[in-house]
Amino acid sequence: MRTGEHRWCRELIAALSDGELSKKHQHLVQEHLRGCLRCQREMFVQWDVAHALARDPAPGPAGLRRRVARIGH
Ligand SMILES: [Zn+2]
Repeated sequence: MRTGEHRWCRELIAALSDGELSKKHQHLVQEHLRGCLRCQREMFVQWDVAHALARDPAPGPAGLRRRVARIGH
């Protein structure tokens, strides 16, 4: 699998955890995740951050963490 596909998938995962993804793109992400453990793990990391944000709405550290998570790939 090409590296660009992982990068693309991770960007969509970030949008997915924000609820910003269309049905079509959700399907594409799920197709990729089915064959890619690395991106599955990335998805769990992103969703942990999203859930942490839901529990703790303080914008400072959580928002920063999320931005770092997006830049890091
Ligand atoms: Zn992948």
